[in-house]
Amino acid sequence: MAPRITEEKIKAAKVLLDAGAPQRTTACLVGISRATVRRIIKDDASLRRPKKLTGRRRRIRAERCPGCGAMVRGDCLACRITSSKERDRDAADE
Ligand SMILES: [Zn+2]
Repeated sequence: MAPRITEEKIKAAKVLLDAGAPQRTTACLVGISRATVRRIIKDDASLRRPKKLTGRRRRIRAERCPGCGAMVRGDCLACRITSSKERDRDAADE
């Protein structure tokens, strides 16, 4: 029996890959193997298209994410995914 990963993890991996995260980073952040990441990419043709990074001229220095401790530039994708689940709670912030 092959180990199965949850739909939630697949979804999270796709968000990261779609945002241009490397396979290794994606695997590490989501907690799945790189083989699984490759399988997800194989299953989703849209993720295979190389993304052109345009209109992003600002240099953003990498900072340590207060949420998960990873070095990130701008938004931390991992925490964005996590916080999207808790958005209901934090929506009334402003
Ligand atoms: Zn984070």
